[in-house]
Amino acid sequence: MNLRKRLQSISVSDFGLVSMILAILLTISVLGLPLTERIFLERTGAEGRATLRLAVASLQATIDRFEPLPALIAERPLVAAALGNPQSASTIAALNSSLERTAQELGASDIYVMDREGLTIATSNHALERSFLGRSFTFRPYFTEALDGVLGRFFALGTTSGQRGYYFGAPVWSEGRVIGVVALKFTLDGFEAAWRRSQSDILVVDQAGVVFMASRQGWQLRTMGELATEDRAQIVRTRQYPLDRLLPLRQVREEIATDYALVRIDDGGFGAYYVTSTIAMEAVGWRAVILTPAGPRALSALMLFVATVVVLGLLIMQLIQRRARLRADQEAQRQLQDLLERRVAERTTDLDRANANLRKEIEERKGAEQRLRKTQTELVQAGKLAALGQMSAALSHEINQPLAAVKTYAENAGTFLDRDRLPEARENVSRISKLADRMAAISAHLRNFARRPQDDVGPVEVQQSIDDALALMQARLKETKGSVIYDRPAEPVWVYGGQLRLQQVIVNLLSNALDAVEGQRAPKIELVLDDQDVDRVRIVVRDEGDGFDEDALAQLFDPFFTTKAPGKGLGLGLSISYNIVEDFGGRLHARNREDGGAEFSVDLRRAEAADAEDQVPSSGIAAE
Ligand code: ADP
Repeated sequence: MNLRKRLQSISVSDFGLVSMILAILLTISVLGLPLTERIFLERTGAEGRATLRLAVASLQATIDRFEPLPALIAERPLVAAALGNPQSASTIAALNSSLERTAQELGASDIYVMDREGLTIATSNHALERSFLGRSFTFRPYFTEALDGVLGRFFALGTTSGQRGYYFGAPVWSEGRVIGVVALKFTLDGFEAAWRRSQSDILVVDQAGVVFMASRQGWQLRTMGELATEDRAQIVRTRQYPLDRLLPLRQVREEIATDYALVRIDDGGFGAYYVTSTIAMEAVGWRAVILTPAGPRALSALMLFVATVVVLGLLIMQLIQRRARLRADQEAQRQLQDLLERRVAERTTDLDRANANLRKEIEERKGAEQRLRKTQTELVQAGKLAALGQMSAALSHEINQPLAAVKTYAENAGTFLDRDRLPEARENVSRISKLADRMAAISAHLRNFARRPQDDVGPVEVQQSIDDALALMQARLKETKGSVIYDRPAEPVWVYGGQLRLQQVIVNLLSNALDAVEGQRAPKIELVLDDQDVDRVRIVVRDEGDGFDEDALAQLFDPFFTTKAPGKGLGLGLSISYNIVEDFGGRLHARNREDGGAEFSVDLRRAEAADAEDQVPSSGIAAE
């Protein structure tokens, strides 16, 4: 479905967005990394520098503590006495033990006295195997400097002991001239041991660039760079360090800030990065260097940074996903709504179309109804004419008979007059008059019947319509020897209708009844005017004919339904009657009687006599 496609396209576009954001985050990481790194390195550098400052202060304090001691010792009379008389074994022995004691008290490694030739005449280590006695140290700068009358200082690997040590050399004065030198050596190994406990490495580098102190043993006596030629020469001359150990410590430096640098030291295996900081120890001409491993801290900083970026990225992605889901939901809802709206529109169109069809159908029905009504009106007329035709045969018979009688009565009246039999003559004339009246009545019926009735419905007296109908039927009844049993109510019964049309309905029902009983001897037709109901008046016509079969009952009121022989029936009578009664607001029913024969009933709305303002006269032939 295209809904799913849309969802996919949304997620695809969001994927693009996510990638973009990730790319941005990555860029930020890449760009931000050096800065973070730098911040961390600077912090590390600052911390290292603080540590280094403490180390330098403590180292300097130790040196400072030993510095005045050789001069003090040189002032001892025993020293001068020993230098004045080196042959005196007792003096030398006394000095030896004195020096030994002093060295122990001071924590110095060695204290010894040399004559101007550099020969050691007394020493604190006289009793040891590595005793300096009889050894010459003229090559050491502290000796030559002291000989020059100043305090000599030096750092070197002991030629006898093989131990690194700091040396002070102080002149021994006698009568204004230097008669010998008191040297004091102390080791700095304790510092290195302390430094090893720190996370950082601490080095002390001399002027030539030799690392003579290092917390890492492997770095001791390495050089910070290639040695200068004169430095190398001096080292050889002073036997300061064994040359073969002075290997350069390979390093690459990168300045971070004024006080710190990042240095990579390639010392076998993998190179490691350190944040380094240097403090110059001007009094002794050294520089102290601290090296703090940069790797782990930078790595943790990096990891912290990456974690932050990742968490941020995840958060953003979740936000985007949620937004995408929301958008997808909204889109799905919109599509559903569209679909619904389309459906509604389609249904509406269908309904409109159905409505239009219905309207058209109604119009057509109306047209058809109008046409039918017109046809029916025309048929009513045609029916009347047909009835007229039917009746004219009976009528001519009906009129010829009285006419023949009139002729006979007239002739007889003449004869009676000739014979002066006046009463008989009068009798005959009166009979002629009666016959004339009757003929006039028949002719009036015919004239009214042929006229097109108006559609007005008003109160009419039922008895009058029945009377007129019966009068019209008289000839046929006589002919068929039939009789109509009718109990005429004395009180006039009023209904809504038209006088002539109601009469026409009754004539039709009576004539159908007569047709149905045709062939019977002295057939009887029952006519009932039932006015028991308050609102309704019923006229019932019953015969003793064969009644209707089912088909006939279903179609009785259809126009042109007839079971009569051609020329006898048009099949219009009941249809016209039905419509007339409907026009009156009444009903025409037909049913088979239980004891055989047909029964028609005409239900009409009762009217009040007072309503009948222009009621037709009850005598004579009603006009409508
Ligand atoms: P027509 O009398 O010209 O046939 P009608 O509409 O008056 O036309 O009658 C239609 C048909 O109804 C008759 O052909 C007849 O079959 C049937 N019919 C009417 N009245 C009766 C009756 N009283 N008994 C039996 N059938 C009747």
